[in-house]
Amino acid sequence: MSVLVFVESANGKVTKAGFEAVYYGSKIGSPVVALAFGDLPSASLAELGNYGATKVVVARNIKIDDSQALTKFVVAQAQEVSAQTIVFSHDSIGKAVAPRVSVRLKAGLVAGAIALPEGNSIRKNAFSGKAFAEYEINTPVKVIAVLPNSVKPEKSGNTAEVVENTADFGAARVVSKEIKKDSGDHVPLPEAEVVVSAGRGLKGPENWGMIEELANELGAATACSRPVADIGWRPHHEHVGQTGVAIRPNLYFAIGISGAIQHLAGVNGSKVMVAINTDPEAPFFKAADYGVVGDAFQVVPKLIEAVKKFKAANH
Ligand code: FAD
Repeated sequence: MSVLVFVESANGKVTKAGFEAVYYGSKIGSPVVALAFGDLPSASLAELGNYGATKVVVARNIKIDDSQALTKFVVAQAQEVSAQTIVFSHDSIGKAVAPRVSVRLKAGLVAGAIALPEGNSIRKNAFSGKAFAEYEINTPVKVIAVLPNSVKPEKSGNTAEVVENTADFGAARVVSKEIKKDSGDHVPLPEAEVVVSAGRGLKGPENWGMIEELANELGAATACSRPVADIGWRPHHEHVGQTGVAIRPNLYFAIGISGAIQHLAGVNGSKVMVAINTDPEAPFFKAADYGVVGDAFQVVPKLIEAVKKFKAANH
């Protein structure tokens, strides 16, 4: 059963979600052809073989923001190899391209899968992560978009053949006038394995030094609750929740965050959640795996010390 996987990339690298999508595709069928775009080094594309791709087709002339060209590229490749399943990451570009491909190929789409299919059944979150829903796609061609951090890829030790696709997909109908890139070398929030997040309990933006220090020590990304971004204490791209970024890290720290349902909707896919809050009745404690009832201004500095000691002892 031929499988195509659309691979996302950013800053000249395949994203973690891109590798996960290839692994996901390899568990559905074979051969697995990975479709990449933009300016990616061939060595990093060949690495996709390690995650299950047999072959990689790269269209270097397509830009990240040209969803129409990316759609034409995927559709042409799907028709060429008579792909039965096309896998995307349910990530920024996948969200724009997967529905278009699904319409062009008259293929059923499940967007936001959180586990490998079991038989014909594909699992998604429902009711803001409070329940699961099982879907079945009944069309001959199937499109599945996988939520980042839903599968843990195993490496096969193989490399993939890399082939260039130089087809001309025409002039872009929409052109970005300016792209402001996030600066610094911090871990992007949707890719982070560990996230340190803080809320209004921190009292003001001047108190985020300890949050950043803890994140640095843990190699984590920082996040915040919505009011914190709304007041301007933190940038909007850090806001997680129903109306912000949805994340699924392995470890999520919620510091001075009450645990409102709209916040939990974006973080309750985390594998382990730790809440630090002065109020023992804070709703977050019902969702958390570990809870510390205490003042963040006392607990977080102790946590930083403990992490430093642990790292020094295990260096
Ligand atoms: P608060 O509710 O004010 O909680 C602060 C917490 O800090 C309290 O639990 C308090 O006990 C604790 N605290 C105080 N001092 C300390 C201390 N020294 N040490 C430790 N703990 C302390 N919110 C989101 O986050 N993301 C969303 O996407 C989102 N979308 C929304 C969409 C809609 C339509 C609506 C209506 C709301 C949405 N909200 C969202 C807002 C949400 O309902 C909550 O109001 C918000 O999450 C509360 O933020 P908070 O926990 O930082 O603040």
